[in-house]
Amino acid sequence: MNAAAVKTEPLVLRTLSSLREELSARRAAMPQLQIGLVPTMGYLHDGHGSLIRRSAAENGLTVLSIFVNPLQFGPNEDLDRYPRDEERDLRLARQQGADIVFMPSVEEMYPRKPLTRVLVSEVTEALCGASRPGHFDGVGTVVSKLLNLVKPQKAYFGLKDAQQVAVVQQMVDDLNFDVEIVPCPTVREQDGLALSSRNVYLTPEQRQQALVLSRTLRTAADWAKEPGMTAGALEARVRSAITEEPLAAIDYAELRSYPSLEALLPGVKLSGFGQPMLLALAVKFGSTRLIDNAILH
Ligand code: AMP
Repeated sequence: MNAAAVKTEPLVLRTLSSLREELSARRAAMPQLQIGLVPTMGYLHDGHGSLIRRSAAENGLTVLSIFVNPLQFGPNEDLDRYPRDEERDLRLARQQGADIVFMPSVEEMYPRKPLTRVLVSEVTEALCGASRPGHFDGVGTVVSKLLNLVKPQKAYFGLKDAQQVAVVQQMVDDLNFDVEIVPCPTVREQDGLALSSRNVYLTPEQRQQALVLSRTLRTAADWAKEPGMTAGALEARVRSAITEEPLAAIDYAELRSYPSLEALLPGVKLSGFGQPMLLALAVKFGSTRLIDNAILH
């Protein structure tokens, strides 16, 4: 019998009360139980899989949440067409070792119009926060709700969304959530494309051209080491590399300090910059907006 065959079906819970009851029963039965939380919007791929596997390896119980959170989508974004496939998600959740899959409806999570939002300032103002107004208020609010419901010791987030990691870490520090945020590396296709639920929207031609993101990030890591290279010169080279692909429309391509996400003056020499830097890209191919990044040390 192989390892996959002995994995048990995860318990699927759709209500807040059933989740609370189940978790308090498990904690009563095992007071030292360590719980890991993996928040997702579903349509799972191996990027999510890597978070679930890490949580399963580090905790006695892994809760995977699947919830397409309307609060974090703008009015003209892809909420209605966001891809969903419950059956496939449950299969992947089991294979990767999730114990509980929490899949609430929108009505269950927001039975009334929520009058409370968790707003993180400064680190939310640039990059995706600037292009997607209100997005991180939705993220902060839903992550707070999930942390309060599950009360995990650890919560797992992908560095594919590096700004989200910075925002969640700031929120957890500011509000004293008793949880460790575990940032996990970006999982890529063999050809370099960062895995994303939104990749299914891409036409074959767009998908081919989208490889410019990972390719440019790899090259930029070498450019950054050139003597005298400045923030402005690196950004300019990155932008011109991306615009060589005719279908690519840059939303942003910026170098910032990480995790504080402060802008770098164009003349700043990278060799003398004493902190990690985030080279963050958001590029549209048709109506599909892809993000990717590299942390440069
Ligand atoms: P999403 O379902 O897109 O909201 O993502 C849920 C979690 O999975 C977030 O913490 C993401 O950063 C993470 N994630 C998404 N794509 C990847 C990837 N390619 N590699 C690693 N983590 C990822």
